[in-house]
Amino acid sequence: MAAVDLEKPFDYVVVGGGTAGLVIANRLSEDSDVRVLVIEAGADRSSDPLVLCPGLVAGLYGKDEYDWNFTSTPQPTLNNRVINQARGKMLGGSSALNFLMLLYPSKGNIDAWAALGNEGWDFDSLAPYLRKFATVHTPPQSSKDLCGLTYHNEDLAKGDGPIHVTFSEGYNVTNQAWLKTFAGQGLEVTTDPRDGRALGAFQNQASIDPVTHTRSFAATGYYNPEVAKRSNLVVLTETLVEKIVFDTTGDEPVATGVEILTKDGEKKQISANLEVILSAGTLQSPQILELSGIGSKDILEKHNIPVIVENPSVGENVQDHPIVCQSFEVADTTPSGDVLRDPNVLNALVGMYQASGAGPLGQSTISVAYSPLVDGSGIVSPEAKKELLASHEHTLTTPDAQAIRKLVESPDEATFQFLLFPTQVSIPDVPKSMAEYILPVLPENYITVMTILNHPFSRGSVHISSPDVHAAPVWDPKYNSNLLDMELLARGVEFVERLVDKSTPFGKLLKDGGKRQPEGLVATDLEKAKEIVRKRQISVFHVSGSCAMKPREQGGVVDARLRVYGTKRLRVVDASVFPLEPVGNIQSVVYAVAEKAADLIKEDRKSL
Ligand SMILES: Cc1cc2nc3c(=O)[nH]c(=O)nc-3n(C[C@H](O)[C@H](O)[C@H](O)COP(=O)(O)OP(=O)(O)OC[C@H]3O[C@@H](n4cnc5c(N)ncnc54)[C@H](O)[C@@H]3O)c2cc1C
Repeated sequence: MAAVDLEKPFDYVVVGGGTAGLVIANRLSEDSDVRVLVIEAGADRSSDPLVLCPGLVAGLYGKDEYDWNFTSTPQPTLNNRVINQARGKMLGGSSALNFLMLLYPSKGNIDAWAALGNEGWDFDSLAPYLRKFATVHTPPQSSKDLCGLTYHNEDLAKGDGPIHVTFSEGYNVTNQAWLKTFAGQGLEVTTDPRDGRALGAFQNQASIDPVTHTRSFAATGYYNPEVAKRSNLVVLTETLVEKIVFDTTGDEPVATGVEILTKDGEKKQISANLEVILSAGTLQSPQILELSGIGSKDILEKHNIPVIVENPSVGENVQDHPIVCQSFEVADTTPSGDVLRDPNVLNALVGMYQASGAGPLGQSTISVAYSPLVDGSGIVSPEAKKELLASHEHTLTTPDAQAIRKLVESPDEATFQFLLFPTQVSIPDVPKSMAEYILPVLPENYITVMTILNHPFSRGSVHISSPDVHAAPVWDPKYNSNLLDMELLARGVEFVERLVDKSTPFGKLLKDGGKRQPEGLVATDLEKAKEIVRKRQISVFHVSGSCAMKPREQGGVVDARLRVYGTKRLRVVDASVFPLEPVGNIQSVVYAVAEKAADLIKEDRKSL
């Protein structure tokens, strides 16, 4: 790469070349009149086989060159265990090491964003952007034969966006049994989940290129070789942004650039003529705001950081989907990803993948289901649901909590997401990295049923622990701090017993009298189910909300055009702006929000 002139001001400086950051950089640099700089802490690893091969993702976790590898504070409701939070530290950010599941948000969920005071953020306004980021491929015949996919609306299978969205060719009897088992519980999807409504089991898509069988992510999609040729777009990797620089001489501080630390340890200032866009992710966008003097006065003063804008909501409102992982030993003939523990099997599959992209390493075979509130007796009646929520009335006073209550009460919205995961999951009290959750350590072969709460009421925080950008911020998710979350999650765990019962197609694939993890614990009542939650809940890695888009007096950090309150020419665009966690897996919403943000920035340029 030719030497980049960093002295010459850029028009836009994007902090963080992750999932959202690369969308913004791509769209803004479509206009050859503007000069765009992306600054990314990690390296460009978009041709690294470990990143590209879907089945080798576990090899990335915990390694400094790929993963920030955050750890939570001990969680009192989870037996004081700490929870690992992988985050991508490379071009493409967390899209470079996620599990590739591609799901779409619900209508009610996104409409709630607008109802919380964010004009222009209802489902119908976001829907075009949910299409814009993707090229959705039609399913192969083998997937249709095995998984039905009758709900798949071919008319929606269009688009020419940078991210490839596909069904796999590698589904097996476990996926088929999963779909049938939910149907037996009255939970069969009949409409296309991309249309904003989905209740029941369905086969989700994945962000995998169907031709190359490789991960399709922000770096390969939004910063592909064609885009990289643009002379008005500069991407600086292995460079840390330490803080945002402000001109404080006017009525409001104006962001004029950033201070960086190059990989050679050199400090530099870079100017932005038009805007600085912060896209460092949910745990690090608030870190950079605080390091720059935007945040709670108490926190900033504690670290001797001059206050530029006092806003105690920075780093608050952190939301995350809690996920409870129960593993079940499979019958000898049932497929399980645990066989990859055998180096001979792994090597054979790697060889097959390298030769032609064939085999399970190029696929995602996770299946999904959405359900309303369920428990050990099946779908909970509207009356019982109301009663449960009413018994926690005193904790449901904020506009957020009321919005979530409405979602849980709605017959169209999913309280739970259940996942069928093809391997065992282990939950150490103090995991060194995400890899320890998913690498098989037990000798038996398992599959895992995961219970996820789509709309948690609990709110956590993330704040700096030092004025040094190298010090990891303190992340306290405060899981189940609203006890209603534990009540809801435990009911979902009770429902799992219905899925694994020997009478169901899914239960028939499990080993008769086989082991389960947590060992010996069966959710025969709510108390046992809560014990399972305490032992087996971790994160789905969907942290969001730490720089929430909301009215300022309701805890907002950015307004509905994603501008940071109290400043000029500074925005945040990443998962941290989500006012409410979307249902299911959230990368589609990150891409769509960033696509919409790029249009907002382009529009606003006219009035700058
Ligand atoms: C293990 C895992 C599995 C997941 N699985 C799925 C899934 O299957 N499906 C799904 O939909 N979602 C999944 N997700 C969630 C999804 O990938 C993320 O929510 C999304 O990618 C976040 O995008 P972002 O733009 O907010 O942040 P990121 O993509 O994380 O981008 C932030 C970027 O900022 C950079 N950065 C941070 N600080 C600095 C600094 N000081 N200077 C310069 N650069 C900096 C980082 O290195 C990073 O590249 C998963 C996430 C993880 C971690």
